[in-house]
Amino acid sequence: VLPGSADAAGQPATLGVMGGGQLGRMFVHAAQRLGYFTAVLDPDAQSPAGRVSHHHIQTAYDDPAGLAQLAGLCQAITTEFENVPAQALQALARTRPVAPGAAVVGIAQNRIAEKAHFASCADRSGVSCGPYAVIETLAQLQAVQADRADLLPGILKTARLGYDGKGQVRVRTAVELAAAWAELGGGACVLEKLLPLTAECSVLVARGWDGRVVSFAPQRNVHVDGILAVTHAYEGNMPPALAKSARDATVSIAHHIGYVGVLCVEFFVVDDGSEHGGLVVNEMAPRPHNSGHYTLDACDVSQFDLQVRALAGLPLPPPRQHSPAIMLNLLGDGWFDASGQPREPDWPAVLSLPGTHLHLYGKSPARPGRKMGHLTITGPDVASVKTVARRAAGLLG
Ligand code: ADP
Ligand code: MG
Repeated sequence: VLPGSADAAGQPATLGVMGGGQLGRMFVHAAQRLGYFTAVLDPDAQSPAGRVSHHHIQTAYDDPAGLAQLAGLCQAITTEFENVPAQALQALARTRPVAPGAAVVGIAQNRIAEKAHFASCADRSGVSCGPYAVIETLAQLQAVQADRADLLPGILKTARLGYDGKGQVRVRTAVELAAAWAELGGGACVLEKLLPLTAECSVLVARGWDGRVVSFAPQRNVHVDGILAVTHAYEGNMPPALAKSARDATVSIAHHIGYVGVLCVEFFVVDDGSEHGGLVVNEMAPRPHNSGHYTLDACDVSQFDLQVRALAGLPLPPPRQHSPAIMLNLLGDGWFDASGQPREPDWPAVLSLPGTHLHLYGKSPARPGRKMGHLTITGPDVASVKTVARRAAGLLG
């Protein structure tokens, strides 16, 4: 789909996205910059992407009429969240190119399938998941209680629909495990051993229809309460051998499933006494990722530019990072003062700091834990970026 082109009836080249959150919004911005029209399917009239798109189809994700309308408007369609119904992507794929496809999104939607996929490419990727057990039935729960004391203390996670640390319970004993399984609804879960993390990182790759892959350097991520808080993206953010292993593993994971689009793989770093520290694969997101938002301001092509290019079948040049960067997530907590009264963050003070790039997603109202935006700090060198990031974080409280 060439940018700026039109079909025989004069309809402008249009790219579609399932989901209207901030990731969809930044996809829409990137597509529009290249001259595409955009269509968003999201039931929420206030959705961040719907509000900036040429077309906003406000139906449920599995509504046949909504899906038909999206397919009618668009030459190619992507998704901005992994929990889009697989049948919806299959329905769209009957008439339009859809990337990533329903099968790979289905794997990323389910921690059990995801871990099986990581295991199936561990030989080639060189990286494995941490110790875990699948718990889908009472019998499996009892077997784990009896035989897998090695997984305690652990984290019980629902197989589906978890994000930002939701759908997870930490457990120390077999008794707590049973209570947690009941609390999570007694359905499909995985119990993971709680690992002593020394760091976390993630890698973004883009893979085209022709199988060509380009990647960004790994970024180091700091989570607070299961939600990404800070991303460090600069030379020296982690040992080079570790960065290379993570990048190579992500490329092989993308190849192994014939992925098309932007893929993010999250890793844990565990101090296992080995030379590079132990790299453990955690999960993957079939889309751009919060940890890659710095690429908008610090790289010559961003993760959203590559999502547009991969979807439209345009060339995928290797991205080049031109500035060191730190990204601070802006959660709704910053919209309340210490006594819980609503307030606006002091944007003029933040924006008076050199190299600050403010991205607000147009969400309202602010709520604690809600992702309202992010702030990327770029600068001429790592030391000055760190200094400005500290001052910005202080202003944002
Ligand atoms: P989500 O889908 O919510 O991002 P994750 O599995 O990535 O779920 O968990 C969120 C965060 O919780 C991780 O980034 C990490 O900080 C922590 N965490 C998750 N699993 C483990 C584990 N097995 N050991 C230690 N920390 C973990
Ligand atoms: Mg995660």
